[in-house]
Amino acid sequence: MAKENKFDTVVVGGGAAGMMAAITASGNGGSVVILEKNKTLGRKLLMTGDGRCNVTHFGLTNREFAGLFGKEGDFLLSPLSRFGPAETMAFFENLGAELKTEPDGRVFPKSNKAQDILAALLKKLKQNKVFIFTEAEVKEIKIENDSIAEIVLADGEKIIGKKYIISVGGKSYPITGSTGDGFVWAEKLGHTIIKPRPSLVPVQVKENWIKTLSGLSFEKVKVSLSVLGKIAKKETGDILFAHFGLTGPLILNLSKDIGALMAQGKVKILVDLQPDKDQEQLEGYLQKSIEKNKKKEIKNILADFLPAKIAPYLIYFAGLKEKVKGFELKKEEREKLAKVIKKLEFNVVSLVGFDRAMVTAGGVALKEIDSKTMKSKKIGNLYFAGEIINLDGPCGGYNLQLCWTTGRIAGSAD
Ligand SMILES: Cc1cc2nc3c(=O)[nH]c(=O)nc-3n(C[C@H](O)[C@H](O)[C@H](O)COP(=O)(O)OP(=O)(O)OC[C@H]3O[C@@H](n4cnc5c(N)ncnc54)[C@H](O)[C@@H]3O)c2cc1C
Repeated sequence: MAKENKFDTVVVGGGAAGMMAAITASGNGGSVVILEKNKTLGRKLLMTGDGRCNVTHFGLTNREFAGLFGKEGDFLLSPLSRFGPAETMAFFENLGAELKTEPDGRVFPKSNKAQDILAALLKKLKQNKVFIFTEAEVKEIKIENDSIAEIVLADGEKIIGKKYIISVGGKSYPITGSTGDGFVWAEKLGHTIIKPRPSLVPVQVKENWIKTLSGLSFEKVKVSLSVLGKIAKKETGDILFAHFGLTGPLILNLSKDIGALMAQGKVKILVDLQPDKDQEQLEGYLQKSIEKNKKKEIKNILADFLPAKIAPYLIYFAGLKEKVKGFELKKEEREKLAKVIKKLEFNVVSLVGFDRAMVTAGGVALKEIDSKTMKSKKIGNLYFAGEIINLDGPCGGYNLQLCWTTGRIAGSAD
C-alpha cells in the first residue's frame, strides 16, 4: 500500500523544534507528518546537557531572557510572552516528565536523563497520531505561485501539505543530521541567510601541555580576553581543559567574542585561578600556608587550594625547581608563583568549528519572519522553527527554549 502523502501540516526535521511544532499542530486535530532523515527523532536532543538535557532556564523576565540572545533578541519578546520557560515546564510536567530547577535557574529532568524528555515527546506524538517518516531525507522544495506546492524526498516520493514547517536545525554537530540543508532551501526560496558561524564552541590553544591535563575543570575562575595586548572582555565562570584546548560553559559562552576578536589580531585567554584574592592577598595567603607547612613541597602546598595536577605546571611556569620546599621559597619566587596563578596564559589558535559547536549563529534573517506566527514573509505557506532562525543564545537551556517557543508558535499558527 502506498504511503499517505497528503497532510495538513508537513514538519521537516524531527529535532526539538520539529517535535514541538508537530505536537502543537496535531493538537488541533489536523493531520501532521514529520519528515526526518535519521532513523530516529531527537538525535541531538539526546546529547544535550551531557545527556542530562538542560531543558530550559527559569527565573528571568522575558526581557532578560531575550537580552541573552544579543541584539536580535527582541524578536523573541512576543513569542516568549505566549510560550516561555514556565509554559514549557508545565508542558513537560503534563507529559509526565518531572523537572527540577537548579539554584542557577537551569532546568533538567528529575531523572537527569535526556532520554526521558525525548520519550515524553515521542509518547505525545503517538497519542496525537502524528505520522513519523524516518529515513525520509528531503531533497527539494517545489514552489508554485509563491507557495510551497510539494516536497520531494531522496527516494523520489512526493509529500504535499497545506502548511510546511522547516525545522532542520543549523550546521552544528552535523553528525546528528543538522547539515545546513535548510539554509540552502531558504535561500533558494528568496530568504536572506545571515552567514552561519559556529557558536558555543571550544577553543584550540597553542599550549600543548594542556593535553596532559585534559578533563581538569575549574569553577568560578576569571577569564580575560586580550587582543593586541589590550583586555577586551572579562567574565567569571567554569572552564574545562581538553586535549585540544579550552572548553566548559564560560569558554563556550565567550567563543562568539573570541571569534570576533580574532578578526582584530592575536587573541590571548588569561585565566585567573584565584579571582577572590588580588596579587598581594594571594602572596600573603601563600606565605601563611608555607609557614604552616615549611617542610612540605610547594606543589603539595598548592594542591591544598588548587587541583593537584596543575601544581607542577604552575611551579614550572614560575621558573622554580620542581621539588622546591616551602622554607626554600624566596619572596620574589612567591611573587612570581602568585603572578602565574593569577594569569595563566593561553594563545588562541582557532575556534574548533561546526563539528564541535553546540549551536549555529546566523541563519534565516529575522526581518523576513513574522514573530507572531513564525511565518515566512516571502512564501505563503512556509514557517520556520528552531536553530535555523538567526538566533543563538548562551549555555544554560536558552537554545532549547528557543526551539520549544518557536516550534509551539509555528505549530499553532494558521
Ligand atoms: C552537544 C550539545 C549539547 C547541547 N546541550 C544543550 C542543552 O543542554 N540545553 C540547550 O538549551 N541547548 C543545548 N544544545 C543546543 C540544542 O541542542 C539545539 O539548539 C537544538 O537541539 C536545536 O534543535 P532543532 O530542532 O532546531 O534542530 P536539530 O536538533 O538539529 O534537529 C533538526 C533535525 O532535522 C533533520 N534534518 C536535517 N536535514 C534534513 C533533511 N534534508 N531532511 C529531513 N530531515 C533533516 C536532522 O536530522 C535533525 O534531526 C546542545 C547542543 C549540542 C550539540
